Amino acid sequence: MGIVLKFGGTSVGSAANMRRVASIIKDERATVTVLSAMSGTTDALVKTVVAASEGDAATVKEQLEMLRRKYSTCIAELLTVNAPQALERMEASFGVIERQAAAFECYTSERTIISQGELLTSAIFTLHLLENGVKAVLLNAPDFMRTDDRGKVDTAFLREKLETLTSDGDTYYITQGFICANHRGEVDNLGRGGSDYSAALIGAAIGGSEVQIWTDIDGMHNNDPRFVTNTYPIRRMSFDEAAELAYFGAKILHPATIQPCKELGIPVLLRNTMEPSAPGTTISDDDDSGRDFHAVAAKDGITVIRIHSTRMLMAYGFLRQVFEVFERHRTPIDMITTSEVAVSLTVDNDSCLEEIVAELRTLGSIEVERDNSIVCVVGNIGYDKLGLAAHIFDSIAGVPVKMISYGASHRSIVVLIDTRFKRQTLQSLNDHLF
Ligand code: ASP
Ligand code: MG
Repeated sequence: MGIVLKFGGTSVGSAANMRRVASIIKDERATVTVLSAMSGTTDALVKTVVAASEGDAATVKEQLEMLRRKYSTCIAELLTVNAPQALERMEASFGVIERQAAAFECYTSERTIISQGELLTSAIFTLHLLENGVKAVLLNAPDFMRTDDRGKVDTAFLREKLETLTSDGDTYYITQGFICANHRGEVDNLGRGGSDYSAALIGAAIGGSEVQIWTDIDGMHNNDPRFVTNTYPIRRMSFDEAAELAYFGAKILHPATIQPCKELGIPVLLRNTMEPSAPGTTISDDDDSGRDFHAVAAKDGITVIRIHSTRMLMAYGFLRQVFEVFERHRTPIDMITTSEVAVSLTVDNDSCLEEIVAELRTLGSIEVERDNSIVCVVGNIGYDKLGLAAHIFDSIAGVPVKMISYGASHRSIVVLIDTRFKRQTLQSLNDHLF
């Protein structure tokens, strides 16, 4: 039992915000607190890695100076008696980064450098708690978060480790999101934005009653507020809806977060650090079935691949051959539609696109189009509710739609459009469906 709170980069982005976080974790009686790196850190570390790999020492220096200013300001504003220890900790991290950048080794240096953001932020925050008499313990995430050679987290190990590491009921355990140890025992990470996923895994591992994801907005919105006017936060949604929205573009939550919590029925709350009393969004088994349409999200950078082949006509095993190509290149497929002579599918990861297309050419003729967006409408869209699909497509009658997907989930209708039409599509859906 217990609850897990995770705070994103902005939530720990300054001394003032770290103080807010400290009071929130006490109010909520957090068992484990998972932290991202201070906002902007991971981007700067990624730039440092790129520069180091190209031997661009000037950029490395520039990024590190920026980070040094940021962290030393935070330490000066946040800490008194523990300030010297925090500065020492900061220099240790910068020392690691400098040494790795100078003798750059692909992969190992990259992962080591990138991990410093979360390591340093969580160390500073813990020193703040300790300085204020809070019983806090800093846990090193790679000691319990471990992945195998395919990048999958070892949840049995996680459970076992956390059971002993977090056994004291009145201690505040602080740890890093995002980072882990890989199968070689080196520090690694769960991918950008992965600290939400860390929190969900930890929540599931301790059999928590709740996982709270704290960011700087007031919950999941019914549409993307960056592109659309008149959006509003959704108070309740189901795990499936949230998973679909997160996967198809809602930036507030890492898409992998829902799975571990859904399996155990652990509610996930999205809350706002800048407004702790706001209700936020609660994601749980409960369905808010009052409305037909709940939300819309969009995901950019989608490549569509069309395969035309008369060999598929009345044949079996054709789709398996297609899927095997993607499997060999470890590339997930997002959307798929088929007819007797054509298969269209989409991918968001085009790192192996050339190889994939070359192999697919043995199956038929291939067309590739980049720069598309997936737009996902979620709600209670049962097939027996007449007119809902018509309502969606009426509202985007002015947009050329490239693919449509609607299936057994009753949860969503997904369309593919050229990214040029994204804003128009989102706004039209917003104006007509909500
Ligand atoms: N700091 C990492 C990132 O910026 C992980 C996270 O914030 O979730 O991607
Ligand atoms: Mg995030």
